[in-house]
Amino acid sequence: MIRILRQILRTGIVTCKCPQIDDPNIRVTGINLENSVKKRFRRSLSVREVDSGSCNGCELEIHAINNPVYDCEKLGIHFTASPRFADVLLVTGPVTKNMEIALKRTYDAVPSPKIVIAVGDCGCNGGIFGESYASLGGIDKVIPVNIYIPGCPPTPTDILNGFYKIFL
Ligand code: SF4
Repeated sequence: MIRILRQILRTGIVTCKCPQIDDPNIRVTGINLENSVKKRFRRSLSVREVDSGSCNGCELEIHAINNPVYDCEKLGIHFTASPRFADVLLVTGPVTKNMEIALKRTYDAVPSPKIVIAVGDCGCNGGIFGESYASLGGIDKVIPVNIYIPGCPPTPTDILNGFYKIFL
């Protein structure tokens, strides 16, 4: 707990200025991703998101990829409520003991071949929460992970670049 409070004080407020709609970095990432989704997934990549115990910081950045600046729907990336329709499982962590079974069941429900993306330092390796009586650590402690997106939290552009790794 003390560790988390120290990090909050050290980090301060990190809200950054809203990027321009025509930011060239976002445009390049978007064009690459859109072309790849069109070619490999017939224009539609379905994503089921699971929060397996995050602080919600990573969720806010994941929400941001749906806003008009990043607009992942335009690139062919759609969020779905059912894992049975998903191509990708996007998971934030760490995996709390309470979420272990739910995460395993969601993973089993996604049809093969499936891609698992771990988002944030907590998803990659347990991050600041680590392993404890309540936390099992990173996502790969519970289900296999294909792509890791580090950062606390990663930016929306990092997350879109993480999706692009599916095609590399
Ligand atoms: S990586 Fe950072 S923002 Fe994401 S869940 Fe962990 S502590 Fe929160």
